[in-house]
Amino acid sequence: MFIEKEIQMAAYLFASILFILSLGGLSSQESAKRGVMFGIVGMIVAIIATVLGKGVEGQVYIISAIAIASVIGLMLARKVEMTAMPQLVAILHSFVGLAAVLVGFGSYLDPHTHSLTGAAHTIHLVEVFVGIFIGAITFTGSIIAWGKLDGKVPSKPWSFKGLQTMNLVLLIVCTILGVLYCGAEGTSGMLYLGIMTAIASFIGVVLVMAIGGGDMPVVVSMLNSYSGWAAAAAGFMLGNDLLIVTGALVGSSGAILSMHMCHAMNRSFFSVIFASGSGNGSGGEKKAIEGEVTALNHEEVAGLLKDARSVVIVPGYGMAVAKAQYPIYDMVQFLRKAGKNVRFAIHPVAGRLPGHMNVLLAEANVPYDIVMEMDEINDDMPDTDVVMVIGANDVVNPSAQDDPASSIYGMPVIEAWKAEKVIIMKRSMSAGYSGEDNPLFYKPNSEMLYGDAKDSVEKILGFLKG
Ligand code: NDP
Repeated sequence: MFIEKEIQMAAYLFASILFILSLGGLSSQESAKRGVMFGIVGMIVAIIATVLGKGVEGQVYIISAIAIASVIGLMLARKVEMTAMPQLVAILHSFVGLAAVLVGFGSYLDPHTHSLTGAAHTIHLVEVFVGIFIGAITFTGSIIAWGKLDGKVPSKPWSFKGLQTMNLVLLIVCTILGVLYCGAEGTSGMLYLGIMTAIASFIGVVLVMAIGGGDMPVVVSMLNSYSGWAAAAAGFMLGNDLLIVTGALVGSSGAILSMHMCHAMNRSFFSVIFASGSGNGSGGEKKAIEGEVTALNHEEVAGLLKDARSVVIVPGYGMAVAKAQYPIYDMVQFLRKAGKNVRFAIHPVAGRLPGHMNVLLAEANVPYDIVMEMDEINDDMPDTDVVMVIGANDVVNPSAQDDPASSIYGMPVIEAWKAEKVIIMKRSMSAGYSGEDNPLFYKPNSEMLYGDAKDSVEKILGFLKG
C-alpha cells in the first residue's frame, strides 16, 4: 500500500510543525512532557509517511527492523539510570553519524546518482562527501564522548602541541580528496571517499579527546548539533525534505544550546569546538592548597541546621548517583516548616547533562520557586548561614576564580565559601570530574561530612526530627 506524494508532503509538514512545537515545549520544565509527546507523535507520523511513500521497497523488512529497534530502544530507556543518560545520549548521537556515513556510501553506489548529469551530479556528489565527512566526525567523536562520560576513557584532556595545525592540514587534505572525488568517473571516487572517511573519523577522535571533563557539557550539546547536521545531509542525499528540516532543527538548536553553555561557563565557543586547549588555564604551576580539612558527624550537621536561619543546598553529580533528591526534599520541607529560608543553588553544568539537577529536583516535586540559578543566588551567599554542598565538586571550586593554572579557571562557580558555614557531603577527598582538587574543602569555614549523600541526608533528618 502506498500514499500519494501530496499526502506524504502534508504529513511531512504536519510532522515538522510537531517537531517545532516539541522544541518549544522543551524550553521549560512545566511544558517539557508535552514537548516530548509532540516529538513522539511527529516521529510516528514521519515514519508512517516515509514507509508508505511511493517507490519504497521492502516495507516488510523496514517495519520489522523498526519494530525490533523500538523494542531494544524501549528496553534500554527503561533500564538506564538517570546518571547514565548522558552516555546514552552520546551513543545515540553516534548512531546518527553512522547512519549518515552509510546513507552516503549507499547513495554514491546507487546507479541513480551516476545517471545525473552536469550541476545536479556535482551537487549530489558534494552532498554525499559533506554528509559522510560530518557523519564520520559525529560517529567517532560521540563514541569518545560516550567513553569519557562512562569512565572508559580518562576525562582529562589529551592533547599535544601542533594539534590545531594537524587538524587544519587534515582538513586541507580532505578538501583535495573532495576535488579528486568529484572529478572521478563513475564510482571510481570510492577510494578518495574511503580515505576521507578514515581521516574524518580520526578528526572526530582527536577533537573530543582534547577536551577536558569540565568542558564536556559543551561537547555533548555540540555533538547533538553535529548529529542534526549529519541527518540534514542525509536528507539532502535521499532527497527527503522532512529529514532536512528535522536535521536543521536539531543542528541549529544544538548549536544555540552549545553557545549558551559556553557563555555560562565563560568559554570561547571556537576554542571548545576546535579543541584549542581545554579550558582557560594557563597550564603553569598550580597554586598550593593551604589549610586543614576538618569533618563533622550527622548529629553536628543537624545541630547547625537547627540554628541556621538561611540554608542553601548546592546539588551536584553525587546527588544523582546517590538518588538523594527524595530525602533531601523531605529535609527541606522539615526545615521550611521550622521557619527557615531554604533554597537550592543550581550551577548550569552541575551533573552530567544540561538541566540534570533541575530534572532530578522536579522528579522529587521540589517547587520551582526555591530552585535558584547560580547568578540569582551568588549575591546572597554572604548572608547565608549554612551551605550544604551535596555531591557537588567542580561547580563550587574556588580555583575557577583564583588559580589561573587550573583547567577550570574562568568558569563561573557557586561561591559557597562566602557563607558562614559550608558542609561538603561526599564520600572521600577525591577530585571532581575535571580532575582538579578543590581548595574549598580546606577553608576554615568548611566541614566535610563523609558518606553516601542519601544515607547522610536520611541520618541528618533523623537527628532533626529526633
Ligand atoms: P563533580 O563530578 O565535579 O563532583 C561530583 C562529586 O560527587 C564527586 O567529587 C564525588 O566525590 C561525589 N559523589 C559521587 N557519588 C556520591 C555519592 N553517592 N554520595 C555523595 N557524593 C558522591 O560534579 P559537579 O556536579 O560538581 O560538576 C559537574 C562536572 O561535570 C563539571 O566539571 C562539568 O563541567 C562536568 N560535566 C557536566 C555536564 C553537564 O552537561 N552538566 C556534562 C559532562 C560533564 P566522592 O567520590 O568523594 O564521593
